[in-house]
Amino acid sequence: MSEYDHTAIEKKWQDEWARSGIYKTGTDSSKPKQYILDMFPYPSGEGLHVGHPKGYIATDVYSRMKRMQGYTVLHPMGWDAFGLPAENFAIKNKVHPRVAVDKNISNFKHQLSLIGLDYDWAHEINTTDPAYYKWTQWIFIQLLKKGLAYESFEPINWCPSCQTGLANEDLNADGTCERCDSVVEKRPMRQWVLRIKEYADRLLHDLDTLDWPEHIKEQQRNWIGRSEGAEITFAVEGADPVVVFTTRPDTLMGVTFLVVAPEHALARTSTDSTVSTYVRRALGKSEIERTGQKAKTGVLLPSVRALHPVTQEKLPIYVADYVLATYGTAAIMAVPDLDERDGEFARTVGARVAETKLMSADEALKVSDGVRKVQYRIQDWVFSRQRYWGEPIPVVHCEKDGVVPVPEAELPVTLPDVEHYEPTGTGESPLANIETWVNTKCPVCGAPAKRETNTMPQWAGSSWYWLRFMDPANNSALVAPENEKRWGPVDLYVGGDHAVRHLIYARFWHKFLFDIGVVHTIEPFARLEFLGFILAEDGRKMSKRWANVINPNDVIDTFGADAFRTYEMFMGPFENTIAWSTNGLVGTRRFIERLYRAQEYVVSEHVPQLDVALNATIKKVGDDIADFKFNTAVSQMMILQNEIDTIKKIGKDQYATYLKLVAPFAPHVTEELWHELGHTSSIHLEPWPEYDEAKLVSNTVTIAVQVAGKTRGTVALSRGAGEEEVLSAIFSDPKLMVHAPEKPTKVVFVKDRIINLIP
Ligand SMILES: [Zn+2]
Ligand SMILES: [Zn+2]
Repeated sequence: MSEYDHTAIEKKWQDEWARSGIYKTGTDSSKPKQYILDMFPYPSGEGLHVGHPKGYIATDVYSRMKRMQGYTVLHPMGWDAFGLPAENFAIKNKVHPRVAVDKNISNFKHQLSLIGLDYDWAHEINTTDPAYYKWTQWIFIQLLKKGLAYESFEPINWCPSCQTGLANEDLNADGTCERCDSVVEKRPMRQWVLRIKEYADRLLHDLDTLDWPEHIKEQQRNWIGRSEGAEITFAVEGADPVVVFTTRPDTLMGVTFLVVAPEHALARTSTDSTVSTYVRRALGKSEIERTGQKAKTGVLLPSVRALHPVTQEKLPIYVADYVLATYGTAAIMAVPDLDERDGEFARTVGARVAETKLMSADEALKVSDGVRKVQYRIQDWVFSRQRYWGEPIPVVHCEKDGVVPVPEAELPVTLPDVEHYEPTGTGESPLANIETWVNTKCPVCGAPAKRETNTMPQWAGSSWYWLRFMDPANNSALVAPENEKRWGPVDLYVGGDHAVRHLIYARFWHKFLFDIGVVHTIEPFARLEFLGFILAEDGRKMSKRWANVINPNDVIDTFGADAFRTYEMFMGPFENTIAWSTNGLVGTRRFIERLYRAQEYVVSEHVPQLDVALNATIKKVGDDIADFKFNTAVSQMMILQNEIDTIKKIGKDQYATYLKLVAPFAPHVTEELWHELGHTSSIHLEPWPEYDEAKLVSNTVTIAVQVAGKTRGTVALSRGAGEEEVLSAIFSDPKLMVHAPEKPTKVVFVKDRIINLIP
């Protein structure tokens, strides 16, 4: 037996698999299908560290098992390469984003290939490829045609550092920019917006149909933030009526004043200098500052009074920045007696508090002419960016015809090459400076017209990419209907980020594509598994800053891809965040070495002592991979290895079975050992082993032998042995014979456990 040389073995089989194409997506539609998908990466300039491939290894293990279990498997990989990260990297390193992205992709592919992942590269996609984003643009045009994309001039989140507008989903929990942590401002500017709110109820309701972790569903529910209530109109002396939204119409009789947001027309049009100063200051604060501040502030709107719809009492109206423009109607009725925030505000400004007599909500709506209303926290999706590196929004502005979609036959609208792709800071994208590109003809009237210069956000390309993997080269349709029916929906989706954002946008676009007949399922991802991250050995996040990044290339060089893969699956529960441990990796490497050396123990005959351990391992490894409990699957394989090392022999067929169980985790060494056994085809195309239920538990039982209640020893017999059989075993054992009465007066026998002979 040669020494275990992981470098030679891994190279040899990676080359061979590429040559023979064993991971080509199956076309046999008589077999059941599995579409297994990773959240595709954006190819960063830093490449992969050891934390990144954890999810990819998991889907690799899972898809290998599924293929062996007789499924045709689609397990593709591609690149989400538009957007700010790629663009910021390119600006910082003074290379064109296209050049940087191509270089980064080839580095990522090389790294992934070293790990021995079973992707079918014939299905590779890249969101920045015009042949791909042609369809991203096509979807936008369908949204526009259905009235789900519109231009808005409302104030939006503006990152002064990234110099672009952002969606709410692009902000950190504290309201800062998710990319650069800058404090985000509100700026009024023309934007393209998608009506995701129209899908809010379906996005909420259909969560119940999904096999997703509950905490992800809960985050989506909170993000959508549906609340039921009512809109009640208050007449105002000296101004237009104010409509408020309340979740508690039953508290109407406790209302003592109204509060409007600084953005409310009543506040913005006030000529009072105290009010306008307050409004100006408030608008300079971020939403998070406004909701997070300890002391509530506000000022009275002089010379206007609201009338209580029931009592006709005159109520003061305040402007206060704890009321948000994005919630409800940007105006509330204050019930300081019952509502904590209103009470706190009343104390601050010295407003009146009255005791609230509750009335039924229906009665309150009747007497106030209120209407039931549902509010959502989710806002329509701000869909344009004032940056270069994104899909051009495929519309043209004509003086006569207004916004005109680019005819579908003319797609894609390709991103022109520019010399300066840095943001302009003027609120226009760098595309605005390329006159030859901007100036075009109106597709309707032929008059000179201008192209839209905003680009799509980085989330656009990932909002439908799973469909393109099904049919990556189709130039006449986004996906052929037969391919979509064959592969949709994604059976298993794995990633570690984007509980909202991507997973909300993707569901929204999928539902829209369902509505226009492109897909046949209402949801894109039937099952979702969320992974925990891998921290550095020091327990911190891996980062250049801490100089604690571990490159998988180095690990694979030293320990081999098989040990690396198996270790990442073994290090703890998949969903847990765990620190890297080189000691742990060394232990896993030893396991692979023991597996390799076990070929010395192979004998031609069956070894019955291994039956129980082997059958238990078949069952546990299969069940655990299916359940994403990879760590316990690996530990079961180690238990079997211990048995083999103790007995020091294993039947040839048993060893072959064992190799098949390890194959998804350690595909190279098992392929090598499989061929050493004399096989000529790949182990990865073998049927998955089945266990024998009868052999799951040991067949031998130890029965305690008592005489007059005193234990005298034990006998080992086959499970289920009867009383006669036990007695004859006792009387053929010299040590027990001497104690046992030849003719007991009574025998107490508990099958498989104990026998008591009473003299
Ligand atoms: Zn930023
Ligand atoms: Zn026109």
